[in-house]
Amino acid sequence: MILYNSLGGVRQEFVPHEAGKVKMYTCGPTVYHYAHIGNLRTYIMEDVLEKYLRYSGYDVLRVMNITDVGHLSSDADTGEDKMLAGAKREHKSVMDIAKFYTDAFFADAAKLNIKTPDVVEPATNCIPEFIEMVKTLIDKGYAYFAGGNVYFDTSKLDNYFVFGNMNEEELQVGVREDVTEDQNKRSKNDFVLWFTQSKFEDQALKWESPWGLGYPGWHIECSAISIKHAGEYLDIHCGGVDNAFPHHTNEIAQSEAYLGHQWCPYWFHVLHLLDKRGKMSKSKGGFLTVSLLEEKGYDPLTYRFFCLQSHYRKPLVFTFENLDNTVQAYNKLVARIAKLSADGASSGAPDLKAAKPYQDKFKAALDNDLNTSLAITALYDVLKGNIDDVTKRYLVADFDRVLSLGLIEAADAEIKKAAAAEAEKAALQEKYLTENGLAKAWVEEQIAARATAKAEKNWAEADRIRDALLEHGIVIKDSKNGASWEIKQS
Ligand SMILES: [Zn+2]
Repeated sequence: MILYNSLGGVRQEFVPHEAGKVKMYTCGPTVYHYAHIGNLRTYIMEDVLEKYLRYSGYDVLRVMNITDVGHLSSDADTGEDKMLAGAKREHKSVMDIAKFYTDAFFADAAKLNIKTPDVVEPATNCIPEFIEMVKTLIDKGYAYFAGGNVYFDTSKLDNYFVFGNMNEEELQVGVREDVTEDQNKRSKNDFVLWFTQSKFEDQALKWESPWGLGYPGWHIECSAISIKHAGEYLDIHCGGVDNAFPHHTNEIAQSEAYLGHQWCPYWFHVLHLLDKRGKMSKSKGGFLTVSLLEEKGYDPLTYRFFCLQSHYRKPLVFTFENLDNTVQAYNKLVARIAKLSADGASSGAPDLKAAKPYQDKFKAALDNDLNTSLAITALYDVLKGNIDDVTKRYLVADFDRVLSLGLIEAADAEIKKAAAAEAEKAALQEKYLTENGLAKAWVEEQIAARATAKAEKNWAEADRIRDALLEHGIVIKDSKNGASWEIKQS
């Protein structure tokens, strides 16, 4: 598989450290508020990547943290503590806020068919690991204690700006201009590993450490949690592009200083979701959530489809008009799949040989830097293809292991709905016949006789039968599947 690697800024063949196995890390949510749909775009695309790696035969271990401590409002360790701000806003404790928004995150993820990572670890579970890592960094000369906090000394690295190839605008997103410089830092890019003195307000959650009662910095979480569960060699690290600097830059600095070797060779960054005001962000207020989409009547899976229709490395513009177009496309797609089953879901097995070229095309799209929009084109090609319906349905289900658009489920629901409508109609007709003293067999005989007359080009007789039935309030409807009847609407 070819992936664009933010580290180095090139497309390259993905080769994991250990053949057949992939260790993947995802920066999890800071659980002080709902995730907005821009955050969720990143999780959707990471989910597709994980599922595609599994589809390709890799044994995947995916680890994600939950940030429930230590994340300040600027990613560069300044500003208000996010968890504390959330707790104040809602007059709850930090732990209550963490629990509530962790549950909300996974509820939203489930609605978007995002698989829960194999390991999910809240930062507050790993305090001993953070302390151990900070201790080692001090012992190795990469960290120093100043003004009550422990800082990572970026001047000790030959190359701190590892994502130097990314453009300035992308790199500066996480850094706010309006905050005073921390005087304890030896150099501007140094960052906090452990706080004992909050620079702003006192923290609710604190733990004993060799440096006094305090709490971890945000960046150390991901390094320690990743190494704890995925070991010293991580294959691929994912996140939103706004995390490349300073968060991921700092993760690399401290992990490699700690380990003494390269930590993670592949970095997968998803670009922003934009709305009319630019990048969607919580600080601007009025951000869109999954619940809000549902309140407006959208199935969250149509938002997933919307994301899949464009490439993860391009900014995506969200408007409700765009989403409406996606809803139409999704409904049409489901209707086509529902029809397949009705026509051809007979007992036959799929033709695997005929399916292969379609699967190859699907794989080629995703092997090309996870080109999901081309993968969806491959799905449409299946529906247009010159193969039987059983094989088509098999391929839709196969591709949906990666796309996770709930296509088969939605199509089956459609089929069920149509069958229920059909049954209701039949019951009404039955009732009508009984009430009017007509036998069903007689009506069927008449319809058959008319078909025979038509076949013999005896139009007069065909019309006579039609009119006779009409006198009983029975209207014949012709279709390519033969004639049926309906109750005449008065
Ligand atoms: Zn992280």
